[in-house]
Amino acid sequence: MSINQSGWRPEMNSAEGSEAATFTGNRALMLEEPLIFEIGDSQTTGVDLPEILLEQARGGLDNLLRTAPIGLPGLSEPEAVRHYTRLSRQNYAIDLGLFPLGSCTMKHNPRLNEKVARLPGFADIHPLQPQETVQGAYALIHLVADWLCKLTGMPAVAMSPKAGAHGELCGLLAIRSALEARGDMRSVILVPESAHGTNPATAAFAGYAVENIPATPEGRVDFAALERRLGPDVAAVMITNPNTCGLFERDMKRIADAVHAAGAFVYCDGANFNAIVGRVRPGDLGVDAMHINLHKTFSTPHGGGGPGSGPVVFSAALAPFAPLPFVEKDGDQFRLVEEETAGEHHAHSFGRMVAFHGQMGMFTRAASYMLSHGADGLRQVSEDAVLNANYILRSLEAVLDAPFGGSGPCMHEALFSDSGFPEGFSTLDVAKGLIDEGFHPMTVYFPLVVHGAMLVEPTETESKAVLDQFIGALRSVAARAKNADPSLKAAPHFAPRRRLDETLAARKPVLVWKEPEAAQAAE
Ligand SMILES: *Cc1c(COP(=O)(O)O)cnc(C)c1O
Repeated sequence: MSINQSGWRPEMNSAEGSEAATFTGNRALMLEEPLIFEIGDSQTTGVDLPEILLEQARGGLDNLLRTAPIGLPGLSEPEAVRHYTRLSRQNYAIDLGLFPLGSCTMKHNPRLNEKVARLPGFADIHPLQPQETVQGAYALIHLVADWLCKLTGMPAVAMSPKAGAHGELCGLLAIRSALEARGDMRSVILVPESAHGTNPATAAFAGYAVENIPATPEGRVDFAALERRLGPDVAAVMITNPNTCGLFERDMKRIADAVHAAGAFVYCDGANFNAIVGRVRPGDLGVDAMHINLHKTFSTPHGGGGPGSGPVVFSAALAPFAPLPFVEKDGDQFRLVEEETAGEHHAHSFGRMVAFHGQMGMFTRAASYMLSHGADGLRQVSEDAVLNANYILRSLEAVLDAPFGGSGPCMHEALFSDSGFPEGFSTLDVAKGLIDEGFHPMTVYFPLVVHGAMLVEPTETESKAVLDQFIGALRSVAARAKNADPSLKAAPHFAPRRRLDETLAARKPVLVWKEPEAAQAAE
């Protein structure tokens, strides 16, 4: 294997004339890596496969037999190991440093939880096993459900939804069933500007017309505008709290009372529960349904495309419509309530969100996280997360515009804008400059209510030393933007790749490998 034959060119890696390209294209320990299709060879294999007994395998399916190889790249074992290890070293990860993405809660997840999730009694069971053989797993699901009900002050919870957005859908389906049950077909869902983008998407997906409610200048729901729009066609209001400006919706109770008086339901996007867990019970604020992202508040690594889990808590008004199945305690046994066993009691359930129970691995991580923190520890989580975010907000508001800095303390995340940047300099330049400083950039250009938004969520798991280093780096990059430093426009200078054409990368991603000859012919 020669990297130089791979179609990759050393000059792709050289930093703007500041250093000579190496023969290999590598820069010391920063190793280049071509696509697996560029190094693989269908004649190579890392394993000895037994001769296939063709006669046996065919079983009368001759017409389905492949006639030519499909071009899968073959690698020897060391080549395969090195390929993926090199790629993994080009990734930024929470185990390398701070992940300041806002609206994500990318926090360190204790290794203990991973160990617990891998215990064979939890990891190696099957959803169709006889119930008496999985009593421990049911007990654990029941335990997590019980904690979620207590922490939110809500009487029921559906554990099966597999992500935050999936939980939103679950909540809206329950709301629709409740309205149908009283013969009240309503068609509109109100979504404030400060809501997460999944909210209007879910409402539209569920077949509702979505209407926008403006935010006040201080970044919260405009209560008067909301109240004016309430009427007999409104099924529900979806409110993200804390909202995507990082602010607590202080009018929540007043909003819920008005919504209920108009015969509608309150859906709360609780993905940011991390900021209020142990401090506020959404049930006390009049919420009817709320999803909780276990992969944000209750520990599970995310962002790598792994499974999510979005249990939905329900008020007494919506509980009868909650989806099946769920685990119920029956004496000292646990049993599964399904369609066949539901009986009168759950006859109003709207059905199922998924085939089985949801993400068992995430339930075990959440249980481990809850039990190891305890109720006092979970309260400490939200206090520290909010303290860290306010430390960032107040440390940076002198160098970056903080549009809602005057709206009181922020919750879990601090929001800045590009206001005051000179012509030609933008939020994107700051993000790219941070890469050179060794940080993953914060969330950029979201929420949309702020121009050139920069949303920073430090979470509770970062030390003051790490926050100080990040603040120092961001101050330095922001100063370069404000001074119109031309080198910032070309950042990143030190990353494995220079600044990409992001529009082209998004609109015309190179996902299909081209034969090298075909590629040459095309040039
Ligand atoms: C992350 C997030 C969601 C979506 O959760 P997924 O699990 O990614 O579907 C919804 N709302 C808010 C406020 C979020 O932060």
